[in-house]
Amino acid sequence: MKKIIIAIDGYSSSGKSTMARELARRIGYIYVDSGAMYRAVTLFAIRNGMAADGKVDRDALVKHLDEVNVSFAPADADGMQHTLLNGIDVENEIRDMAVSSLVSPVAEIGEVRERLTRLQQELGSEKGIVMDGRDIGTAVFPDAEMKVFVDASPEERARRRLLEMEHKGLDVSYEEVLANIRERDHIDSTRKIAPLRKAPDAHVLNNDKMTPAQQMDWLLSLYHVVSNE
Ligand code: C5P
Repeated sequence: MKKIIIAIDGYSSSGKSTMARELARRIGYIYVDSGAMYRAVTLFAIRNGMAADGKVDRDALVKHLDEVNVSFAPADADGMQHTLLNGIDVENEIRDMAVSSLVSPVAEIGEVRERLTRLQQELGSEKGIVMDGRDIGTAVFPDAEMKVFVDASPEERARRRLLEMEHKGLDVSYEEVLANIRERDHIDSTRKIAPLRKAPDAHVLNNDKMTPAQQMDWLLSLYHVVSNE
């Protein structure tokens, strides 16, 4: 079987990261969560006083972008990959609501996208990679052999995200999570550069009513067809 690039795009909290990670594990591919990279840059901006109250100081962030180094530590025993910001593990911090509410404005900045897109392309240069995000099949790897666009209703996504956050002991309401999801959907799909959009050759997976096992069967069948072509 030839090594391919698998691009999995879709809306916030559509479950794409979980399925992308599991798919990579099953087929022995590298997994990259591109959203974590945008989150790490956002955390850098917050920590350095360049983002607060829903606003990002774009000029300051662009000026200091060279100081931002995003990388990944190899997966640990539970298969979780940890995101590093300038060499320090920030996997937990980047999932906070403070980061979630500022990440989409940060991801609108052209210079941020250029830098992270380049890094993502380097990570995929030898193929054998599953990457999830918003623009992987359209901008990062427009020639990816397998493209998937994951869709689910905002309400179902908010419900799942809330469960996940409650599980971590975070105190947020359903309304707050739903509002954040709707706002990110809007910014992500209407921004000028690399908006969230289904690539014409992407396969749509609506997982509103699918179990994780059904989703995995769907992905593996598609992978077997594509990688044997
Ligand atoms: O995937 P996740 O929800 O963690 O991504 C966080 C945010 O990062 C998204 O809402 C989006 O604004 C941005 N993002 C992006 N392009 C990607 C991945 C994420 O703009 N490829």
